Amino acid sequence: MSQPLKIAPATLAKLAKLGIHHRTDLLLHLPLRYEDETHITPIGEALPGETVQVQGEVTHCEVMFRPRRTLVCRIQQGSDELTLRFLNFYPSQQKQLAVGKTIRAIGEVRGGFFGLEMVHPKCKAVDEDTPLPQSLSPVYPTTAGLSQTVLRKLIANALESIPLSDTLPAALIERLALADFADSLRLLHSPTPDISAATLEKRSHRAWRRIKFDELLAQQLSMRVHHRERSKRAAPALPAHDKLTHVLLDKLPFRLTGAQQKVWREIVHDLSQSHPMQRLLLGDVGSGKTIVAALAALQAIENGYQIAFMAPTEILAEQHYLKLHEWLTPLGIAPVWLSGSLKKKAKTEAAARIASGDTLLAIGTHALFQKDVEFHKLGLAIIDEQHKFGVQQRLALRNKGKEPHQLMMSATPIPRTLAMSYYADLDVSVIDELPPGRTPIVTKLVSDARREEVFERVRTACLSGRQAYWVCPLIDESEALQLQTALETHATLTETFPELRIGLAHGKLNSEEKAATMAAFKSGELQLLVATTVIEVGVDVPNASLMVIDHAERMGLAQLHQLRGRVGRGAAESMCVLLFQQPLSELARERLRVIYENTDGFIIAQQDLQLRGPGELLGARQSGVAMLRFADISEDEELLDMAREIAEELLRDHPDAACAHLQRWMANKHDFLQV
Ligand code: ADP
Ligand code: MG
Repeated sequence: MSQPLKIAPATLAKLAKLGIHHRTDLLLHLPLRYEDETHITPIGEALPGETVQVQGEVTHCEVMFRPRRTLVCRIQQGSDELTLRFLNFYPSQQKQLAVGKTIRAIGEVRGGFFGLEMVHPKCKAVDEDTPLPQSLSPVYPTTAGLSQTVLRKLIANALESIPLSDTLPAALIERLALADFADSLRLLHSPTPDISAATLEKRSHRAWRRIKFDELLAQQLSMRVHHRERSKRAAPALPAHDKLTHVLLDKLPFRLTGAQQKVWREIVHDLSQSHPMQRLLLGDVGSGKTIVAALAALQAIENGYQIAFMAPTEILAEQHYLKLHEWLTPLGIAPVWLSGSLKKKAKTEAAARIASGDTLLAIGTHALFQKDVEFHKLGLAIIDEQHKFGVQQRLALRNKGKEPHQLMMSATPIPRTLAMSYYADLDVSVIDELPPGRTPIVTKLVSDARREEVFERVRTACLSGRQAYWVCPLIDESEALQLQTALETHATLTETFPELRIGLAHGKLNSEEKAATMAAFKSGELQLLVATTVIEVGVDVPNASLMVIDHAERMGLAQLHQLRGRVGRGAAESMCVLLFQQPLSELARERLRVIYENTDGFIIAQQDLQLRGPGELLGARQSGVAMLRFADISEDEELLDMAREIAEELLRDHPDAACAHLQRWMANKHDFLQV
């Protein structure tokens, strides 16, 4: 076994930039692609458009100054010649290319003015008989100032000097028909001559499969381990007494759907345990998550514990407040409202009621977990639209109680693979059924040229007693511009519909104005609500049956789906009009097609994943998915399934192996798992 190389501090810093902190990390720094230097193409056979390696003697080397400073060099092999051109070059390169030297150059051949040429080839001075490498040369991801040569040397040395024992039990490897870990790693770093670069770059080779499986397994293991650790902590057991919950259920104008009953049972069970619930409730928009949250709150209340019910926007939090107020006041429970925009006095009062335990149910925005809010006896935290909150915010809330139970909710329908990968540290419940009596939403795509017709539709709907939303264009670049657009749209529509009562909701309204506007719309006093995407999450007005989304081509799929979910909440036939501006980009066209053809949030999310990749889909949480370097959850679904199953098995039957595996893959990646 060779000795570890001494690495200069400057190099160490560069390696750290690549995420390489320990010598073992070098092993898992795998090539992006490969260069084929294993054979030489005779210059006479090189074809334009091909990337090849050629060899020849330098017959001419000169710096030209027109049209710009260029090093031009000619090499010759037999009677064939090739020009090499360098626009940026160092004196050392010029020296290397001195007349009479023999050169190997790799690059793309092009037809130039003076015959075949290569621009910026990679060159190496050689002797006539310098041997060719036997295998493909790896090209690693790197950073400025760290050459492939240095990386290759460090990695080759690590491969030789670090033991590459397999972390998985031999029987398991055999059962899953996996390749050997050490063999896979060696093969990817220095492929044997029989493998082509194309085969390896596709990443479906057995060696890649093994590495990707190991990576996914490590991810699953670490999340399950964190889940276990958290569930070892103590939380107050909040068993069901079925007093208040039953009163509420009896009073409701509807019966819970089967899906709601199922998740409610899961939550009842979790809450009655003496370790913290860590449950994520996934359900498409309109699936009825709020009532489930209210029932969970009541169960905590029955046990004398407090609840913090938090939503990411003031409009949404306010709506929850009103809804729970309506449901719970008859039961003798008065929720308290807390948001950042309350006047100081009101805020202090609210905080005092929370601190004294005078109120058991606090509803609000992230103001609920500011420093100056102390809970008397927090037993349950309910977090709506949890993906909108950052890790820090949720952590702060958890630290408010000893260890409250956590119920997180999300309407972001995420594809199964993503949920499995991303939420492996949570218990997931899904409401996969909409309440009955909803009529499907009709979606129409309308070019902006036919705006007038859309106006007519809005007029008819509103005059027939229904209500409508008009969603203003999304303007990414500037909030000020966004506001201005909303104001202009409101002005135009007010002029267009003198006979309608029209309101305006946008992010810059203060909370009282916002609440007043929403209340007026809810009560039917306003017929048309012009709004920015602040209404994207959770707003619930069943009588609203028409939504127009202006410049729909600017919005993402998830956003369009969320917006559309604001209508179709009552029994009336509902419609969503997507107004778009020509010409459409390829991506925008594709998005509009998907939203037009699908209403199922999970299918839309799956398509979104394909259009955009996982990173953008997930929002605030530093994702464990983004951490995947090799596996791709939209392609490696089968490996992910396998990894999930094996993670459980390893933790149960081979904890040492699980530990060794985590050590290899996760030694320094704990940050995203704290919540
Ligand atoms: P979301 O899951 O998007 O948060 P909500 O909780 O806002 O959905 O529920 C949407 C609407 O459906 C609300 O008006 C709610 O009162 C109503 N609802 C919830 N459950 C049922 C049910 N089982 N039957 C009929 N209506 C229901
Ligand atoms: Mg909701």
